[in-house]
Amino acid sequence: MSARVLLLAGTAEARVLAERLRGTPGLRLTASLAGVTAAPAPIAAETRRGGFGGAEGLAGYLHANAIAAVIDATHPFAAQMPINAARACAATPRLRLIRPPWAPVGDWRSLPDLAAAAAALPTGAHALLTTGRKETAPFAARPDVRFLLRSIEPVAGLPPHITQLAARPPFTLDAELALTRDRCITHLVSKNSGGAGRAKLNAAARRGLPILMVERPAPPPGPQAATIDAAVAWLRKTVALGA
Ligand code: NAP
Repeated sequence: MSARVLLLAGTAEARVLAERLRGTPGLRLTASLAGVTAAPAPIAAETRRGGFGGAEGLAGYLHANAIAAVIDATHPFAAQMPINAARACAATPRLRLIRPPWAPVGDWRSLPDLAAAAAALPTGAHALLTTGRKETAPFAARPDVRFLLRSIEPVAGLPPHITQLAARPPFTLDAELALTRDRCITHLVSKNSGGAGRAKLNAAARRGLPILMVERPAPPPGPQAATIDAAVAWLRKTVALGA
């Protein structure tokens, strides 16, 4: 009988891990997506979509499906799912797969949250905002600062001091240098997601711009892996799989 493993997905790491595990004898992998993206990138595993109904709902799912292990590969800034997974997995082995954060570069100022980043901007600044389209409220509340909000999908109902730039990564260093120069950017605001996408940091550092970096929430206690190899090794050690 195959060991059933639940992969909490929604990141590039989850897709790479699923691809690595595809066809592993003795493994039945189920990927779980929050269901917030209309057309998510394909993942090489059977897939379920939508929330579980909190930690209790997830615990019920684990029991009902005889899940032998959980790999939580949600985004470093996913605030709730890692906590729910830790609570639900009292009796189920769980690994947090989380990519390393970016190392500081240039005029790097660490901040605990978006509100602190918004408060740290001086009046008259023109900030490039790369913190996502969902949490714009702290910046909307700073009409004395101009923002250039870069996101893949547009945001409705923004105030006039927030201008939108629809763009899809990856971005090159040259493109980031040109953007910050041509749009007269004075500050970069980012979340420390890690992974690809350092070009904006290197460009800001090269131009001497302050980098307001929102650092990650602390992950719940428990085993962590920073790489796909480490996650595969943990899984092989944790559940009985074929070669
Ligand atoms: P979140 O705050 O941790 O999760 C909110 C709720 O969404 C959870 O309580 C859970 O609902 C449901 N959920 C989240 N991930 C799920 C998954 N993989 N499978 C099933 N249900 C899931 O997360 P979020 O920040 O809203 O992000 C949602 C998803 O987008 C995550 O999978 C995350 O990896 C991905 N993502 C997030 C960011 C970011 O910056 N936050 C960036 C890129 C991708 P129930 O309580 O009902 O189970």
